[in-house]
Formats: sequence, C-alpha cells, structure tokens
Amino acid sequence: MKVLLLADHDGRELAEAMRNTLTAAQTWNAEIEVLVCGHEVQPVAEQAALLAGVSSVLLADAPYLAQALIEDFSALLATVSSQYKVIIAPHNRFFASGLAHLAGRCDTGLIQDVIEIYNGNTYVRQRCAGVATETVHSSEAQQILTVRFTRFAPCSFGTAASPIRVLSLPDGRSSTRRTQSASPQGLRSRLREARVIVSGGRSLGERFLPTLQPLAAALGAQMGATRGAVDNKLVPRDWQIGQTGSSVEPQLYVAVGASGATQHQVGIRNSSFILAINKDPKAPIFGIADFGLVGDMFEIVPKLIDALEETQRKTLSKKVESPEAIQESMHC
Ligand SMILES: Cc1cc2nc3c(=O)[nH]c(=O)nc-3n(C[C@H](O)[C@H](O)[C@H](O)COP(=O)(O)OP(=O)(O)OC[C@H]3O[C@@H](n4cnc5c(N)ncnc54)[C@H](O)[C@@H]3O)c2cc1C
Repeated sequence: MKVLLLADHDGRELAEAMRNTLTAAQTWNAEIEVLVCGHEVQPVAEQAALLAGVSSVLLADAPYLAQALIEDFSALLATVSSQYKVIIAPHNRFFASGLAHLAGRCDTGLIQDVIEIYNGNTYVRQRCAGVATETVHSSEAQQILTVRFTRFAPCSFGTAASPIRVLSLPDGRSSTRRTQSASPQGLRSRLREARVIVSGGRSLGERFLPTLQPLAAALGAQMGATRGAVDNKLVPRDWQIGQTGSSVEPQLYVAVGASGATQHQVGIRNSSFILAINKDPKAPIFGIADFGLVGDMFEIVPKLIDALEETQRKTLSKKVESPEAIQESMHC
C-alpha cells in the first residue's frame, strides 16, 4: 500500500504546509511518495526529497504545468493515481478542485478540510468555514482527501535525499491557458501559512499603512485586512481575510479597528490566539477574541510597538550580558 502526497509550492520553494501534511500522510504507516508538478521545478523536487520518511519523489515537469489548469492537473493525476491507496494534499482551492475532478474520474469520494484522522478511514472535518465539524467514515477502496495542515504538527527534514523519478507526461488536454496570475507574489498563500498576522479595518483610513506597518514589522507579521478596508481601496484586494478572502490560521491574529462581522470571523476563527483592538466595547470582534483592548487604536498601537521594542531591547541586552556571550565576544 502506498500514499501519494501532492506537493504545494510556488515554483521555487516547497510550501511550509508540506511538513504538516506529511505528518497527516504518516497516519497510514505506509510508503509515501510525493508528486511535484510544475515547470522547471527540479529544485522543489530536491527539497521534497529531503522530507523525512518520503520514499521517492515523482517529478512532473512541463511548460503547460507552470500555471496548471485543474483539467490538466487532474488528467496527470489520473495517470498515476491507481497505484495509491491514499491521495492526500494540504487544503487549498487548487488541490480541492483538482482532487474533486480526480474523484469524479475515478467514481470515488473526496473528503475535504480534514482536521483529524482515525483508523485511516474515519475523519473529522470542518464545515461551514470552521463554524462546525463533522465526523465521516469512508469505505472507498481509495481514500482521497485534503487536510487543514495547521492541525497537524510539522515533520522535520531528513539528512538523506530520497530518489527523484521523472514522469513521462500526457499532453496538456485543455485548450484554455492561464496567461497571467492576479496574485503574482502569492500573498494569499503567504497569508494562509503566516504564523502572525496584523490586520486592519476600514476605520484606519489613510493611516492604515503608517499605523500597522511598524506593528507588523515589530511582530514579524504578514499584513491582512477586512473587506471594508479593501473596498475603501486602502490596501490591495488579495489582502482580504474572511468569507470571500483568505481563511487564515496563524498562532497570533491581531485585529485593529475591525468590527468583526460574521464574514470576517469565518476567515479567522481557526487562529490560535486573537488580539482585538477596538474603541467600541460591544464590537462583535470581542466575541471571538482571546484578548481585547478597548480604546483608540491610534493611541494603543504606538504603545504596543514601544512595548514590543522595549522587550526586544531587554532580551538582546540579556543575551549580550550572558557569560557565554561575553566569552564568545572575547574569542572573536
Ligand atoms: C457576501 C459577503 C461577503 C463578505 N466577505 C467578507 C470578507 O471576506 N471579509 C470581510 O472582512 N468582510 C466581508 N464582508 C463584509 C462584512 O460584512 C463587513 O462589512 C466588513 O468586514 C466590515 O469591515 P470593517 O470591520 O473594516 O468595517 P466596519 O464594520 O465599519 O468596522 C469598523 C470598526 O472600527 C472601529 N473603530 C473606528 N474607529 C476606531 C478607533 N479610532 N480605534 C479603534 N477602533 C475604531 C469601530 O468601532 C468599528 O467596530 C462580506 C459581506 C458580504 C455581504
């Protein structure tokens, strides 16, 4: 029995999500092969080959796979899928659609958004953008699933590289070709993978960037926004978080001047810790926040940045004063 793990990457680097998805793939205690699909993605295949416990990497490399269409991707998958008992990928729109196509071709089922796996055929998955969960059992001979990767611990990289096998590919079937991507810097995927996000609402107005950029820099955070901020053209559309934007799962989500409308909440409810800053104590964001600061964001945010910088200074000076640091500096 073998498991096929689909590689998420940006054409240059393997996504962080792969280390977590590999943990999920190990549930079956079976041989795991990784499929890397794209154009000129040999370096990505080499990174995948270093994932601990992967037995080999399949490389599907062709110009038409550079910006692969779902139809081409699922046609390619169909040529190898019958060898695998399990096909698994981190949950994102591309894999969810590609695997739905594959499941249709194979007349089997697809289980999406899995957060827990039991006995290799029973899954807890999210519904309604994380508002509810349900447990499902699949008696299909082949299990096809996407996982919400942040719910699984990341695997480490190994020391020895597994072999890379280059696939001979079917021709691209679709007569449609993607000619340009609307999110060239892959911001959406960076938001999905971010460990810390600082996000702002429309009330920041023209002071959105001057207020939040220093806070994001102090926290090493990605920046996001509500639809209110996006609609008011304060920031680009791919910054939007929520029902019609990105769903995020950072360890820390800082919401500044965001009311916390239901459509925003569904995109952030899987965050580990939410800090909300809002002048209205009745703002819905406080219903979902772990910690709330009620007050004027233009006063609170600068104080927060000062406190963060002060903490960083103290940590740095403690490190410099430690005997190890002094000895180290004497040796230089
Ligand atoms: C079909 C549909 C899909 C949608 N999808 C999304 C989505 O994906 N993402 C999304 O975010 N929204 C989405 N929305 C819109 C959503 O309903 C809200 O309108 C939007 O989230 C509000 O944005 P906001 O919080 O920036 O603005 P507002 O709701 O106007 O809130 C501004 C907040 O700022 C606070 N504030 C003002 N001044 C200060 C200050 N000086 N200090 C501190 N706080 C202050 C106010 O108290 C208020 O709570 C969707 C709506 C629909 C109908």
